[in-house]
Formats: sequence, structure tokens, C-alpha cells
Amino acid sequence: MPAARKALVIGSGIAGPATAMALRKAGIDAAVFEARPAEATSEGAFLTVASNGVDALRVLGAEKVLAPAFTTPYLVLRSGTGKHLGRTRTGIELPDGATSQTITRSELYRGMQEAAAARSIEVEYGHRLVSVEETASGIRARFGNGREVEGDVLIGCDGTHSTVRELIDPRAPRPAYSGLVGTGGYVREVPVDSEPGHYEMIFGKRAFFGYVLAPDRSVWWFANIPRTDEPSRVARGDGAGAADTAGTGADDDGPDGVRRQLIDLFAGDVGPAVALIEATARPLPLSPIHTLAHLPSWHRGRSVVVGDAAHAPSPSSGQGASLSIEDALVLAQCLRDLPDHQQAFEEFVARRRARVEQIIRWAARINSNKAAGPLAAAIRDRMLPPMLRLTANNKAATRQFAYHVDWNAPAEQRAG
Ligand SMILES: Cc1cc2nc3c(=O)[nH]c(=O)nc-3n(C[C@H](O)[C@H](O)[C@H](O)COP(=O)(O)OP(=O)(O)OC[C@H]3O[C@@H](n4cnc5c(N)ncnc54)[C@H](O)[C@@H]3O)c2cc1C
Repeated sequence: MPAARKALVIGSGIAGPATAMALRKAGIDAAVFEARPAEATSEGAFLTVASNGVDALRVLGAEKVLAPAFTTPYLVLRSGTGKHLGRTRTGIELPDGATSQTITRSELYRGMQEAAAARSIEVEYGHRLVSVEETASGIRARFGNGREVEGDVLIGCDGTHSTVRELIDPRAPRPAYSGLVGTGGYVREVPVDSEPGHYEMIFGKRAFFGYVLAPDRSVWWFANIPRTDEPSRVARGDGAGAADTAGTGADDDGPDGVRRQLIDLFAGDVGPAVALIEATARPLPLSPIHTLAHLPSWHRGRSVVVGDAAHAPSPSSGQGASLSIEDALVLAQCLRDLPDHQQAFEEFVARRRARVEQIIRWAARINSNKAAGPLAAAIRDRMLPPMLRLTANNKAATRQFAYHVDWNAPAEQRAG
């Protein structure tokens, strides 16, 4: 008998549909509730699903969601002066040669929802969770629209600014502002000197610029800009990202203002940044990047958090989405095999915490390189090439990408 018969899954980004599908695979019913309205209006940013994420999707039987993605096996690092700092793999090759994949966020969200729908899992949109109440035999969720639903357990897949996390522990740490804001865009007909599928990463003098040539010759780019003051978050509600994609509120943070700021920031750097920015009709709104490095309580009573709600690495890790899918599988396994939800949640945390926190620490080091001052930048440019060589031969780095969930292995609670 599984530890629960019906789960209420809050949030339908990546972790939400993945968790519902994994639960269904484990014989547990799941209903998904999402705050956003159903229609997504923009493609939003793009992201990389690392080889461990591809593997986790395969275990889930949902690899098809990556059909619109393209392979991005390498990244090339350069300084703003054009110095080649190194080239490294974005992950490992799976036995059949598959490796990291890049996809727009909206396509990934849509693919996950379609894969869930194909398993008769419905997502109910326009349902923002506001409170929960434990009953004698289960848990009741209340939504902003007045609806109430009951289940045996409630799983918070509601992202970095999670409501479920706060309901579990009102004193839980808030996500920390990383000191960087992000933007990006898509451009056609600007030639760039790079191989398709190879990320080019430029540590510019004042900000960080990355781009990749897609198979259709369009260029997908992003920029990370150091900003000391944390810009305010505003709800964009376009379904293209975490619900709270942001703007700074300042007049010059509209598309034209963003473009002007970016051109100014990258004007002194070698590379195609300025040409790409000039050719982008609507750069994505500037969004503050938040991380959540350590959450003391991932669960309380019948509620638990997974994905970014439990641990939000910086986007520099390229791991947030992949870790969310891994979480989904491991939690479902624990609920499938352990006698009650309490033991299942404890075992879930025991299996996941060390891995995700190690990746978050590693990504934080990359972020500090992106925001480096002139002296730190000079040291970074000296140190990066030997560090990259070291990482390429480093077993710990390989383990990050080689993680595999053995779905058929029974989850047993560890002693102590
Ligand atoms: C700019 C940027 C670039 C990134 N690049 C990468 C990358 O290359 N590779 C990678 O692996 N990761 C990347 N990430 C991280 C990745 O996007 C996240 O790790 C991933 O989206 C986490 O999935 P999630 O389902 O936990 O949260 P989300 O995808 O944020 O989904 C949470 C969902 O919950 C909903 N929600 C929120 N509150 C409520 C509520 N109260 N009730 C109901 N629903 C609610 C939201 O509307 C949203 O749909 C990037 C992140 C950013 C910001």
C-alpha cells in the first residue's frame, strides 16, 4: 500500500507535472493546481536540461517533451577582451550519446503539461494556493478563488517564491537576491562565428553575456548584469517563467531602456553582444535572480516541498530543472514504498539534500565569477583555464551529471 492515495500538487512549472506523472507511475492519484491562467503568451527565457535531467525524463517515460529542444554539448568561455579561457562539456554523454538539451521555457512547460494530460492528469489553472488545513484524515487546500480540495498529502512545486514553503515554516529563509539581474532574447539573421549547439560565454568587463546558435541559425542569448540594489519583482503572468518574473519599476526598464542599458554595458567587449542586442526587438524584462541555498524544513505534517520551492540553485548551474525532475521521481518512490507519509518525506530529504546543496554551492561560485570586479576578473582569467582542465577530469563533477534514479529499487528508510 502506498503512503498516500491522493496528492494535491501545487504549481505546474516543471516539478509539478513531473511529480504528478511520477506519482501516477507509483500508483498514486494526483491533481495539479496552478496559479497562472492557462494561456501562455510568450516564449520567455530558454533553459538547458542537463544529461541527468534527460535521464530523469526517460525514467519518467516523458522524454518526448524534449522534441523541440536542440543538443548543446559544449561551452566555450571567453573574456571581454576576446581571450579564449577554455572549452568544456556541458555534461556527460548518456550511453546512447544523448547529452544536454536547450529548449524555451514555454515549450518545456507545455511539453510537461501535455505529457501529464496524456496520462489523464489535469492541471487546474487560475488556482493560487493561499492556505492549508490538516483534517483528521488528510489535508485541505484553499485557493484564492475560494475553491477547497482535499487529499492525503500536499506537494509544493510552487517555485522559488513558494507559498507552501512558508506554510510549512513561516520562519523559513527567504530566497536570497544573487546580486545579478537577467535578461535575454532571440535573434534571426545576425551572423555569429560559432558552432551550432556550442554555448559561447563571455565574461565581459561590466556584465556577463552568453549565446548559442540554434540549428535554424537563430541566435539565443542571455545576459547577467551585476546590480547591488535588488530590483522589485512584478507579476508578469505570461506563463513564460516563474510566476514572479520581474522588472525594476524604473522607466528605462522597458524594452528600449533595457536595450540601451545593455548596449552601454557591452560596448567595450569583444564579441557579438552589441549586434545581437541591437537586433532584438523585445529583450526579456530584467529579472532579479534569486537562490535558496539551504532550507531547514522541507516538510511538516502532510505537506512537503520539491524543486525550486525546496532548493533554488542559480541559473548558472544549468541544473534547477533537472534537479526538479529527479526530486519528483525520488519523492514518488518514497511515497510508493514507505508505510506512511512522514517516513516517506524523511527519506526523500535524506536522499536529496546533500546532492542539491552541493550543486547550489558550486553554482554560487560561478555567479561570483560573473559579478567579479577588475582585480577578481584578472585572477579569474588566469585561474579558469587550469580549473576547467581539472574539472574535466574531476569525478565529483561527473557525478553531478551521471545521477540516475533506479525506479525499480525499493526505497527503504535508512537507519538513524
Ligand atoms: C533566467 C533563468 C534561467 C534558468 N536557466 C536554467 C537552465 O538553463 N537550466 C536549468 O535546469 N534551470 C534553469 N533555471 C532554473 C529553472 O527554471 C528552475 O529550477 C525550474 O523552473 C524549477 O521548476 P519548479 O517547477 O520547481 O518551479 P517553476 O518552474 O518556477 O514553477 C513553479 C510554478 O508554481 C506556480 N505557483 C507559484 N505559486 C503558486 C501558488 N501559490 N499556487 C499555485 N501555483 C503557484 C507558478 O506559477 C509556476 O508555474 C533558470 C531560471 C531562471 C530564472
